[in-house]
Amino acid sequence: MRILLAEDESAIAGFIKEGLEEEGFAVDVASNGRQGLEMAMDYIDEYDVYLLDWMLPGISGIEICRSIRKENKTVPIIFLTAKDTVDDTVFALESGANDYLKKPFAFEELLARIKVLLRNKEGEQNVFKTEDISLNTEAHLVSKNGLPVELTQKEFALLEYLLRNKGKVCRRTRIIEKIWDIHFDKDTSVIDVFINSLRKKLDTPGKESFIQTIRGVGYRVNND
Ligand code: CA
Repeated sequence: MRILLAEDESAIAGFIKEGLEEEGFAVDVASNGRQGLEMAMDYIDEYDVYLLDWMLPGISGIEICRSIRKENKTVPIIFLTAKDTVDDTVFALESGANDYLKKPFAFEELLARIKVLLRNKEGEQNVFKTEDISLNTEAHLVSKNGLPVELTQKEFALLEYLLRNKGKVCRRTRIIEKIWDIHFDKDTSVIDVFINSLRKKLDTPGKESFIQTIRGVGYRVNND
């Protein structure tokens, strides 16, 4: 899952980015309104959630929100702001945001609200399965034959992406866009390293891997 965070206060941006990365999200930070709008428009299909500060230098979070909504009606958008009158809240929601968080807020609250919005968007599905492997996004658990398997955050994010797209070929460039942030070097073979560790942890010895390599393109988890 990839998030765009538009926030000009670097301390707040750093704190949110770090916390969300620990939860397995890839986070791109825009430090002013223009950059935020550009990134949102350039990667409109890549972001799963937008976190927008209202008061940004240049272009406001409200304007970014309206531009996103012209392109995408359903992607979750949350405002982070010091403005807190009823009028402000109504204005923010009418501009197309799904939720509104008043600064200062606890990181746990932000995380909880992101999870609620993602769950609503996905129509409650939070368990993804293939063969004897099961991944629960709510509990953040992976199991094989009912026994828990420990994964790193990136391994978890990669497995989640492959299972969400079960039966489809996941292109390498698409995987990078969804799981790593904008500063990531797209030429490295880091995906293979993570695919290999998922295979080591989750394949059944003596059987074909549950992740199929599509040479020159990417990977696929087959339908059961
Ligand atoms: Ca601000």
